Amino acid sequence: LAAPAAMDAFWMPFTANRQFRGTPRLLASAEGMYYRDVDGRQILDGTAGLWCCNAGHARPRIVEAVARQVATLDFAPNFQMGSPLPFVLAERLKAIAPRPLDHVFYTNSGSESVDTALKIALAYHRARGEGQRIRLIGRENAYHGVGFGGISVGGLPNNRKWFGPGLPAVDHLRHTLDIGRNAFSRGLPAHGVELAEDLERLVQLHDASTIAAVIIEPISGSAGVILPPPGYLQRIREICDRHGILLIFDEVITGFGRVGEPFAAQRFGVTPDMMTTAKGLTSGCVPMGAVFVSEMIHRAFMQGADSAIDLFHGYTYTGHPLACAAALATLDTYEEEGLFTRALELEAYWQEGLHALRGKPHVIDIRNYGLIGAVELAPQDGAPGARGYQVLERAFRKGLLVRITGDTVALSPPLIVERRHIDDIFSMLGEVLDGL
Ligand code: PMP
Repeated sequence: LAAPAAMDAFWMPFTANRQFRGTPRLLASAEGMYYRDVDGRQILDGTAGLWCCNAGHARPRIVEAVARQVATLDFAPNFQMGSPLPFVLAERLKAIAPRPLDHVFYTNSGSESVDTALKIALAYHRARGEGQRIRLIGRENAYHGVGFGGISVGGLPNNRKWFGPGLPAVDHLRHTLDIGRNAFSRGLPAHGVELAEDLERLVQLHDASTIAAVIIEPISGSAGVILPPPGYLQRIREICDRHGILLIFDEVITGFGRVGEPFAAQRFGVTPDMMTTAKGLTSGCVPMGAVFVSEMIHRAFMQGADSAIDLFHGYTYTGHPLACAAALATLDTYEEEGLFTRALELEAYWQEGLHALRGKPHVIDIRNYGLIGAVELAPQDGAPGARGYQVLERAFRKGLLVRITGDTVALSPPLIVERRHIDDIFSMLGEVLDGL
């Protein structure tokens, strides 16, 4: 496989942006913990693709399940008739979800999961005769995909400002990272409760009776790996409960074992009313997402009030047989290989390796949780992002795939990672940082 001559011609700017076009890095194949590029070089996957290939690459059981499915039933027109697969999968998902989130709506991506969850929130209140609850609260510096709902509740400028005003009736919590108080800590200072009071500010400002939902990434990924200080999520939950506001966790990144439990909600001990997921659901190999909702929300959304009876929501590819087959084989893999708890087992080892990078040139903060790591670098004068990009490029040349968000280097290896891979990741990254 050679690189096509005019690559700009057929890629959207965000799928192959500056980070890619600077020096195209083309991958030819993948297996287990490794990619291989078109020149045959082996690249250790430090990011599970884009936080998604949690079971590793090209796992034979998943490959076989998808191949078998496409040859057996390639598509089911599920508005008229279905296949059993989405129902079988729903039972499996119910078994690992935090109670009482025991219903799912399928989507095809994280962005669709977010927009679907926001729509469900509005329809839920309307079905209960509270149609005035239309306001959605996100957080500054959050990423919720690229749909109109997601960019409206999100807060990253490059994701927002080119695309008009977004949804009406949206407001944002202030963001929570405070490097001054956080720098190099293992764990975080306990100012979560205080930070969460910002939701009370918005409740007072807008009147609780107009607010439908709050959406939050338990750990924000694309905004720079921002961890919730202890007490933050609990307090947000309490405030939502007090005012009848639905709480949505966007677990597109944190779901499916990334933090040592199937979902971050379980690890943090805070149960939202809805959970958006994608990525790890199929270990990235077939696009699929799912929104988890409680029985109460499901009932209201499906049949509750008269006004909801003619409600329509669904995609051509909802519960696609290939995606369901991939998800079922992925769940088998997670369960049989103990991958849901792997991040917890390796957390201390991962933390030691990551924090050994303290003191390397330009490192101003290090953050970690489960099998997530972030190394934040001081921005170069007048060129924010340049240093991060250098790390991405040099690490790739050494044979390591990292992700950057600005000047933060993010790591999230497949959950099949072993100690020797962790050693390799930090030794390659350490050498790159030494050379900056
Ligand atoms: N929410 C979060 C928290 C994400 O990290 C992402 C993707 N990185 C999305 C939503 C959007 O997912 P997708 O790219 O599959 O649409």
